[in-house]
Parts: sequence; structure tokens; C-alpha cells
Amino acid sequence: MAPISRRSFIKWAGAISALGTVGCSVNHPSTGSRREKARVAVVGGGFAGASAAKYLKLLNPELEVTLVEQQANYLSCPGSNEVIAGLKQPDELRRKYDILRNVQGIQTVTAEAQTIDTARRTVSLADGSAIPYDRLIVAPGIDFRWDAIDGYDETASLLAPHAWKAGPQTTLLRRQLQAMPDGGVVLITAPANPYRCPPGPYERASLIAHFLKRYKPRSKVLILDAKTQFSKQSLFLQGWEELYPGMVEWISAEKEGKIERVDAQSRVVFTEFDEHRADVLNVIPPQKAGKLAHQAGLTDQSGWCPIDPLTFESPLAPYVHIIGDACTATPMPKSAFAANSQAKICAAAVIDLLQDREPGHPSLINHCYSFLKPDYAISITGVYKYSPTEKQLEAVSTGETPMNGDRRKEAEHARSWQKIIATDAFG
Ligand SMILES: Cc1cc2nc3c(=O)[nH]c(=O)nc-3n(C[C@H](O)[C@H](O)[C@H](O)COP(=O)(O)OP(=O)(O)OC[C@H]3O[C@@H](n4cnc5c(N)ncnc54)[C@H](O)[C@@H]3O)c2cc1C
Repeated sequence: MAPISRRSFIKWAGAISALGTVGCSVNHPSTGSRREKARVAVVGGGFAGASAAKYLKLLNPELEVTLVEQQANYLSCPGSNEVIAGLKQPDELRRKYDILRNVQGIQTVTAEAQTIDTARRTVSLADGSAIPYDRLIVAPGIDFRWDAIDGYDETASLLAPHAWKAGPQTTLLRRQLQAMPDGGVVLITAPANPYRCPPGPYERASLIAHFLKRYKPRSKVLILDAKTQFSKQSLFLQGWEELYPGMVEWISAEKEGKIERVDAQSRVVFTEFDEHRADVLNVIPPQKAGKLAHQAGLTDQSGWCPIDPLTFESPLAPYVHIIGDACTATPMPKSAFAANSQAKICAAAVIDLLQDREPGHPSLINHCYSFLKPDYAISITGVYKYSPTEKQLEAVSTGETPMNGDRRKEAEHARSWQKIIATDAFG
């Protein structure tokens, strides 16, 4: 679902609430008593959780909505590749929770959620307090599989940054690029699917090449990939040839791209038969759902959270919904756009369920932009519908920037999307 204005959303919300009472009174599970206001807790204030909290309140101002986020401010990954390339300042990634708290009427709690008691329906916080809920939305994003690549753990990431969560890792990679001598090799390792932001490694390679072309033109970007193909591949390859000839090299899994071991100290990466020395080493490791999802038993063998795509409710924990990167919403990719779209559907479903109404069959949308330089971008889009027969999401329409499409226009759209999504989720 594309971001929409508060006015038009309220019109839509009005249509939904006309089907039942706006106030959400509920029976409390443990005491059996009836309360006038239903309580929804949301854990994780990223694109998924912040959007869900906001749209719950827009749909039903009577709800008590509590947003639990461990960081005082959110740092956005969209835009972070531009920081790495020196096109944006780190501060431009910062999003605040003031408007959600002071204007939207959401209770915000700055704390780490540690456990979920699904029987009592409470979320325990690090300080020992607990937040009760009638329905819970969990959106903890991702964590890294630190055991997946020999030699690459959290300590190694201080030498060879992943920069796959925005913050100190982003600025570390930026500083390393600035310090690199001309003629150096920037090596990026890309993981197998699924992972956060499928086109992200290739946007990063492009924007780093943009920086190198200007300031260190004898340098090179090498991508070692655990995959045999990647998102928007032909558009990226076309762009690299046009903008950065001979500067960006992609080695697929078929050609020894899959890495097996990392020596972060000497910045050497080993594949089955080969080794590559880097001057700047950016290892993007394999990923899994955020820690809380594992602690709360919301994940399956894949390391991600299964959900019912009709409501995003967990089949493993009643009254608990999971959205954003942490959930498996195949065939949707893990993106901020998708997270925002899922949040709106989940918010509407939670309100339906609180009022004992059957949720409608959802349609969702994703549209991911990638910059190859500040005035050159490409994009991919997908529309997904719930299939009642398959009980899963299906891609009903997909598209990409045409090979001869207007890259400058796409860059303008990409920039305005960054502003719109920030306002839609946090404003
Ligand atoms: C380099 C890069 C570029 C990207 N560019 C784009 C782009 O252009 N377009 C796009 O659509 N997507 C992009 N993405 C993907 C996008 O960042 C993610 O898909 C999106 O952030 C997912 O949102 P989320 O809310 O699920 O997770 P997150 O954004 O990670 O938010 C999770 C939040 O939960 C909090 N949290 C976790 N555990 C707890 C806990 N126990 N208690 C309290 N709080 C907790 C975290 O602090 C965090 O704030 C990019 C990603 C990267 C890495």
C-alpha cells in the first residue's frame, strides 16, 4: 500500500469502522473482566513498528497503543548507502518519535523488550516492568548469523564492517573509504537470500564507485556473491558499464563468489579455491529475525517468523503478530516499503480481530529504488494479493525501470519516496 495522507486514510478507516463500533472493548483473558479500551503493544519502532503504531491510532483513536523501542531515536537504513558514499550526513538518517508521542497519542517506551508471556499477554522489559496487551505486534527487524562465516563475528565487524544496520557501522565504513589509498580494492560480500534489502549491496557498490571515480579513480569495487543472480541485475550491470566501466566487478556464486572464511585483521576473504585481499572489506553476513523473535519462540527452522498473511498473526503464538523484516511474507522482499505496507494491513486486521470481525483479503505493494549516482536511479515494484485458496501471498504484478527508462526522473522519485516514507511512518 503506498503512503497515503491522514485525511484519506481516515476516510478509509471510517468505512471500516462503520462496520462495527469504533471503541474497542475487550474481555481481559486472565481476569475475565471487560475493559472499554483495548490495548495494543508494538515492539520495535522501525519502519514496520512505527507505521503500525501510527495506523492503529489513525484507524481507531480509542485504542491504547504502546510502542516499545530500545533506541531513543531511529536510524534509517534507506539513505545509509548515500552516507557511506559521502552524499548525505549521518544525522540525516535520524528519525524521532516525538510526533508519534505528542501528536498521534501513542505511548512510547524507550526500553529493550526481553520476553513475551503469551499466556498472560505481557511483554517484559529490561527494567523488570511488564506491558500488558490484548494484541501484540512484534517488529524487531533483523539480527546477524554470527556463526555462518568462519572468522566473521561481532568483533570482526569492528575491523570489517557490515554496515547493514545504520549507525556506528555506517560511519566506520565511510571513514575506511576516506582513508583508503587510491588504487585500493573495496570488497563487498553479499549473502544468499533471504536478507534485508535485496538490491542494497549493489546500490552500495554503485555509490562507492561514484565516490571512488571522483576521489580515488584508480580504485576498484569487487562484489563476491553467494547468489547466482540478484535484484535488478540487468539494470545494475547496464549502469556499471555506462557509469563506471572496468571499476565494478561482480563474481557470482557459480564463479567462486561464495565466501567461506574471513580474516578481518588482514582483510582477506577465502572462497573454496581462492582468496581475495581487500583494502576496505565490507562483509554483509547472512541474517535472521531479530533476537526477541527467537527468545519468544516466534521463529521456525528458517530463522524467520512464519505468519498468516491474512492478519500477520503468528501460527506459533496466538494474539501475536509479526511484521517487517523479521517475518516471512514470501514473495515480498524485506524492505522498508514492504514493512510499511504490512504494518497498515496488520493494523487494520488487529482492529477487525479486536472487534470480532473477519479481516478482509489484503493487497500489498513494494517499490524499491536504488541509486547508482545522485541523479541516476532504478526501481523494482511488486503488487501482492492474498490467495484464499493457497492461503498465502501471490505476486499479481511486477515491474522494473525499462532499460531505456528515465534514470534522472527515477532519482527524483527515489528522493521524494525517502521523504514520504519517513513522514508516513514517523510523522
Ligand atoms: C543499506 C540499506 C539500504 C536500504 N535501502 C532501502 C530502500 O531504499 N528502500 C527500502 O524499502 N528498504 C531499504 N532497506 C531495507 C530497510 O531498511 C528494512 O527493510 C527496514 O528497516 C525493515 O523495517 P523493520 O521495522 O522490520 O526493521 P528495523 O528498521 O530494523 O526496525 C526494528 C526496530 O526494532 C528495534 N528493536 C529490536 N529488538 C527490540 C527489542 N527487543 N526491544 C525494543 N526494540 C527492539 C530496533 O532497535 C529497531 O529500531 C535498506 C537496508 C539497508 C541495510
